[in-house]
Amino acid sequence: MADTEHQQPPTGRVVIEKCAIATVDPEDTEYATGHLVINGNRIESVGPGDAPEGLGNVTRRIDGSGHLLTPGLINTHHHFYQWITRGLATDSNLFDWLVALYPTWARIDEEMVHAAARGSLGMMVRGGVTTAMDHHYVFPRGAGDLLGAEIRAAAEIGVRFTAARGSMDRGVSDGGLPPDFAVETLEGALAETERAVDTHHDASFGSMLHIAVAPCSPFSVSTELMRQGAELARRKGVRLHTHGSETAEEEKFCHELFGMGPTDYFESVGWLGEDVWMAHCVHMTDADIAAFARTRTGAAHCPSSNARLGAGIARVPDMLEAGVPVGLGVDGTASNESGELHTELRNALLVNRLGPHKESALTVRKALRLGTYGGAEVLGRAQETGSLEAGKLADVVLWKLDGIGHSSIADPVAALVLGAPAPVTLSLVNGRPVVEDGHLVRADEEEIARDARDEARRLARIAADAD
Ligand SMILES: [Zn+2]
Repeated sequence: MADTEHQQPPTGRVVIEKCAIATVDPEDTEYATGHLVINGNRIESVGPGDAPEGLGNVTRRIDGSGHLLTPGLINTHHHFYQWITRGLATDSNLFDWLVALYPTWARIDEEMVHAAARGSLGMMVRGGVTTAMDHHYVFPRGAGDLLGAEIRAAAEIGVRFTAARGSMDRGVSDGGLPPDFAVETLEGALAETERAVDTHHDASFGSMLHIAVAPCSPFSVSTELMRQGAELARRKGVRLHTHGSETAEEEKFCHELFGMGPTDYFESVGWLGEDVWMAHCVHMTDADIAAFARTRTGAAHCPSSNARLGAGIARVPDMLEAGVPVGLGVDGTASNESGELHTELRNALLVNRLGPHKESALTVRKALRLGTYGGAEVLGRAQETGSLEAGKLADVVLWKLDGIGHSSIADPVAALVLGAPAPVTLSLVNGRPVVEDGHLVRADEEEIARDARDEARRLARIAADAD
């Protein structure tokens, strides 16, 4: 693959015009018909009507009639490897589901993770994701370079990527949930996480790859790993990620083991701060939300996964009101088999309307903001992406809204959020196409599907033989 070529910024201008535009800038500026000019890998201008005349070095001019242009979607929580363990334990809550799946997950290897990452990424990118994130925390001994396999897959597909190097060191014999054979040692987990940061993290503006430090959850990680993980991240200047306040069972576990709820526990180990984001944040008290807001700790809202596992409804309207940065997450596809983020815009709105705020919980525009700018904030990249503004990176998506699914909906943002999943006519990452006419540009979807099926079967066989 020409991965290094993809890392180089493109040259020349790309003009997209005659489309509706939702910029998701601080004023939520929209244009019924507007234009966007890209120069290299940056947005040069955005505004109403056609692009200015006389622009030089235009390499491509796109007629966006019948389309809506938005910032690319940003995913803030995922577990790629689960692409090859979908559709299992379909009637379990979180803890039962984890206990059912850990033994299979502990058999993964590098080839499986590469195939699963390509499946997860292919599905999301085809649906308008331009910045992906993965939280990988299962590292069986001798399984190969699993983080490297994901990083390779992201480069092959061409997406901007945050790889969160996860870890677990609290097995059953230490009062944790995962089996002992699925966990690392404290020292091993810290050393490998530090190595991942040193090897891969690129902190520059427009970076295609960030690494985050990401012990898995309070019930699978020792207090010492949480504490030393935070110290490591701050020493290296990278972000911190984990699961938090996902279920009532987790809350009970924290009270029993630590004598306090999850948010107080996180605070006690140095895990609240503007460099931290947590997946789920479902079971949050008013005091928890205030603590997140005060410290600017971010939340990755995963409505489909929370519904699939019966975890509950996160208090997104209250978090937004308090000033907590909130993005959207697919979560692992063993608890959200669809694996798409654009459908989470709709699900976030619907699920939150089932909560106490009812119809005033979220608007379609707030849902779009969660999936774009909110995600950029949560990943620490709001200066670079998440809105269509001059100087930001050219991560943009052109959604086709003149087809059978959407043509009769006048408001393009309502069509995108509430309508059927809209086809992506064009998606650019760093100014380069990753999707054209609904299909991946840089990878073969049939091959991805075939490899994922083969690796899923191989894993199922190995897991069955080990029983
Ligand atoms: Zn998760």
